[in-house]
Amino acid sequence: MSFRVAIVGRPNVGKSTLFNRLAGRKMAIVDDTPGVTRDRREAAARLGDLDFTIIDTAGLEEAAPKALESRMRRQTEKAVAEASVALFLIDARAGVTPLDRHFASWLRRTGKPVVLVANKCEGRAGQDGLAEAFALGLGDPVPVSAEHGEGLSDLFDALRRHAPPVEADDIEAADEDAADAGKPLQLAIIGRPNVGKSTLINRLLGEERLLTGPEAGITRDAIAIDWRFKDTPIRLIDTAGMRRKANVVEKIEYMSVGETLRSVRFADVVVLVLDGEAMLEKQDLALARMVVEEGRALVIGVNKWDAVQDKKGAVKKLADRLEASLAQVRGIPVVAFSAATGQGVEKLMPTVLDTWKVWNTRIPTGALNRWLEPIVADHPPPLNKGRRIKIRYMTQVKARPPTFAIFASQPEAMPESYLRYLTNGLRQRFGLEGVPIRMVMRGPKNPYVDDKD
Ligand code: GDP
Ligand code: GDP
Repeated sequence: MSFRVAIVGRPNVGKSTLFNRLAGRKMAIVDDTPGVTRDRREAAARLGDLDFTIIDTAGLEEAAPKALESRMRRQTEKAVAEASVALFLIDARAGVTPLDRHFASWLRRTGKPVVLVANKCEGRAGQDGLAEAFALGLGDPVPVSAEHGEGLSDLFDALRRHAPPVEADDIEAADEDAADAGKPLQLAIIGRPNVGKSTLINRLLGEERLLTGPEAGITRDAIAIDWRFKDTPIRLIDTAGMRRKANVVEKIEYMSVGETLRSVRFADVVVLVLDGEAMLEKQDLALARMVVEEGRALVIGVNKWDAVQDKKGAVKKLADRLEASLAQVRGIPVVAFSAATGQGVEKLMPTVLDTWKVWNTRIPTGALNRWLEPIVADHPPPLNKGRRIKIRYMTQVKARPPTFAIFASQPEAMPESYLRYLTNGLRQRFGLEGVPIRMVMRGPKNPYVDDKD
């Protein structure tokens, strides 16, 4: 499978216009009537030096599953399932609508990488909609004007982050086989300014390496440092800390959220560094949530442990806050150390590797369903409109992070609380502690098997 990009969004946001723009040929029908584009269309597309297949979809309507609507919906689901990335369009002039929100939460549940695109941003008319788009929780929106061809280089940057490495033409396979193929573990070290990221990186790599700067391969443009921990190749992804030391520029006292998000998206495992004396402030929590929302494996590193007087109290406070604020991911690993003295730093990388393994877990379908059956029998899903929601079976659709599809009758009626019950059970039974888990509801038919259109 080559790099496939699906354009999704409610009707009339400009999907076909963007499709035409990227495909460089008039291929989709463009019309002012919502829902005119009925079927998926595909074309070879090119943006910068990126070649990909672009897929236009009809809108996922929030309508009764009558013939046309449900067919459109299936088409969209299928397009997204087969895509490497979903380009999620909103109309910045119209602002974020309830249907957009519905789309956003559905997309999040699919576990697909999403690039949020705010269309119709030419001139200033899109400003308000653009601001609203941040609140969708899908990362920074990329402002474009499909009609006028504006913002395409930002779109290129956003897409390139998700593009497969040149040697691999199948992004899913490349993804899944990463651990076996000896692909490096992509590690990002993030945190507020002054928590000690640079000190930690120096400590991990050995002082000399970073201090020698450019000769060690750290230039202004460097985006990664390759190194090995024991037998595992590690790629340390660009962070503000690395750049600063390399260029000996003034200390940056602010944190660039956009840049941090970029590092997080490149990463498999993210170490969020906290200052032991000022732990889990608002910004720390926002960063932790971002890592979890992006589906990355999170390790919390508590630095400056040497300066913490009441160590016991600090551990308790941290555990309480994590429990209260990040309850959806139980068991996030925490490592306390002093980057300055080196004490405790040796525990960090083994924890990173363990978490990485969990994040890569694949559970055979047989084992999953042997576990599922008694769990569901013990505590069945609730009734919906007088009919019991029936779970047929589940399967793991991908790793990194572990993502499961549950096939059920009335999938749309499955309450979040029941999914949490299953998620917690899964964590315990299969040792999936500390990493995000995604659950996707599917209808009684298996779309990959039954849907041939
Ligand atoms: P779709 O239903 O999502 O495929 O949307 P279309 O591509 O058919 O576009 C819907 C309407 O929005 C059409 O009238 C387009 O001309 C218009 N449109 C698309 N892109 C832009 C844009 O960047 N700016 C403005 N102002 N209008 C646009
Ligand atoms: P960054 O902005 O996150 O990269 O932070 P730096 O690595 O530049 O460190 C910020 C400050 O915290 C510096 O003054 C460091 O000396 C100090 N620092 C870093 N690690 C430790 C530590 O383990 N203990 C103490 N007490 N101070 C530290």
